[in-house]
Amino acid sequence: MKPGLKRGFDQKVFVNRSLTLENIKCYGFDMDYTLAVYKSPDYESLGFELIRDRMVSIGYPHELLRYTYDPSFPTRGLVIDTTYGNLLKVDSNGNILVCSHGFCFLKGEDIHKYYPNKFIQRDDTDRFYILNTLFNLSETYIYACLADFFTKCTRYTNLLKDTMDFIHDTGTLKERTIKNLEKYVKKDPNIRVLLSRIKEVAKVFLATNSDYGYTEAIMKYLLEDYIKTGNPKQSWRSFFDLVVVDTRKPLFFAEGTVLRQVDTNTGKLRIGTYTGDLQHGTVYSGGSSDIVCDLLDVKGKDILYVGDHIFGDILKSKKRQGWKTFLVVPELSKELQVWEEKKNLFEELKRLDVFLAEFYKHMDSGSRECPDIRDIQTRMKVLTYRMDMSYGQMGSLLRSGSRQTLFASQLIRYADLYSSSFINLLHYPFNYLFMAPPVLMPHELAAQNSADFASSELSAVTKTED
Ligand SMILES: [Mg+2]
Repeated sequence: MKPGLKRGFDQKVFVNRSLTLENIKCYGFDMDYTLAVYKSPDYESLGFELIRDRMVSIGYPHELLRYTYDPSFPTRGLVIDTTYGNLLKVDSNGNILVCSHGFCFLKGEDIHKYYPNKFIQRDDTDRFYILNTLFNLSETYIYACLADFFTKCTRYTNLLKDTMDFIHDTGTLKERTIKNLEKYVKKDPNIRVLLSRIKEVAKVFLATNSDYGYTEAIMKYLLEDYIKTGNPKQSWRSFFDLVVVDTRKPLFFAEGTVLRQVDTNTGKLRIGTYTGDLQHGTVYSGGSSDIVCDLLDVKGKDILYVGDHIFGDILKSKKRQGWKTFLVVPELSKELQVWEEKKNLFEELKRLDVFLAEFYKHMDSGSRECPDIRDIQTRMKVLTYRMDMSYGQMGSLLRSGSRQTLFASQLIRYADLYSSSFINLLHYPFNYLFMAPPVLMPHELAAQNSADFASSELSAVTKTED
């Protein structure tokens, strides 16, 4: 890019914590939704249809077949309450921001009937399940359909808990994806370019939870299939120093599993635990992050790990191993676009907040009068609703009005860098210093604002005196 050219926001890498790229000695990549980007909404529609059809085939009412996937409904990061079948959007403490039962959105007093404190104890993982990954989008929609269909049907109280297990079996989805890769997986020649450039300056590994057969099909499609463009045939495996499949993240970042070698001719696992040195071109199965560090001879702090799963890829690698982290957030392009278009709504929300504070400015604990702030509160609710609706029915992945979601707080806390795609690393030199913007705490912000306010008052006074 020529100097002086403004880079589009969706090509940027954003920074929560400063990071010197020059110090990174090793780059690790997840595959699904990181290197391999699935085409939305075709892929989610396929996922939804497979689950729906399978449920009907095992005895669920055939009326479920009437539902088709609506991409405007689900947002990632929602919580399913398996007791009531409600879908919840929560903040980092479990306070409820949005609540739906089926496709019906519940208002304040109705939410209180289910959740008296408008709060959930999300540690109760038997009851609450976070739908964190992009694979979960079709599942989120299935839950809404089921709640919608069975709302008045008491025969099916334990339905959601029973349904969970087989929804997670993605075998058929993968089979169908491989049969029609062009339809479901985005192909980008820049993946080859970026991976080759990284390999010149650092070590590179792939760590995926997918099995060898699926990984081979996807990576071949992404990296090898360029004969027509004149590139010499180069095995996809040659882009990596180490390839590990069946990693079982997040377990991979803790005790892990037994490391075995994959026979790339048959796709079968070799018998016994692998104990030798790293062999180039070899594919491994299982293992752990510690084993990967040993095989590649790198330390955790020297690794930048790129993945899309906030829990399995980012939170665990950061918390358990101290790796540097890069979160891929495909929704970011849309989020940025809406934010650009609707930031006036957010500005107004902030103005109302200041306006509200003004009401109480001259009151203290001895005051008895009670200002009527209902109009402002209503206005704030309307603005929040209008903002949310610009993103989709469930609102933004990252906020509801002025409040941040659980996903946003985890992103800030555990991802050093984040971007809509890992490809955006292409726009930065390998000695780049990613600088985090300074973040003020509320007391610092108040002190700064009052200083700004004083200086603006001062300049107003000066002007009058002129
Ligand atoms: Mg992934």
